[in-house]
Amino acid sequence: MKKKCLFCGTEFEPINGSSSYCPESDCYKKAKKARQKIVDDLIKLIRKGLYKNFKFFNELLPSIDNTSILLETAIQRGFDEHAFYKTAIDKSNNITWYNCGNYIFSIQQKNGIKYLVIYKN
Ligand SMILES: [Zn+2]
Repeated sequence: MKKKCLFCGTEFEPINGSSSYCPESDCYKKAKKARQKIVDDLIKLIRKGLYKNFKFFNELLPSIDNTSILLETAIQRGFDEHAFYKTAIDKSNNITWYNCGNYIFSIQQKNGIKYLVIYKN
């Protein structure tokens, strides 16, 4: 049964049933390289986002303390609510906290206005 190469889309007759790339070509290597590039680019973006948030938090709250700022203002100053690496839900008040280095943050709403709440530990 003919198969379509996962990298270039060319139809080929597989030598064994498990091959997914056309034989006698470097499609397997190219596919592996392409996957690695996607992961590398993703890691670069994640690093960039986390670093931006950390830098912003560090400027806003350099010592062990907590603060809150209008979410809109935070975003204008470079905050990205999607840049974090761990979440924890406080079940007593149903607030989700996100980690970024030695800071945790959450987005809370008061009278219809969204605030960014930050704690440094
Ligand atoms: Zn191919």
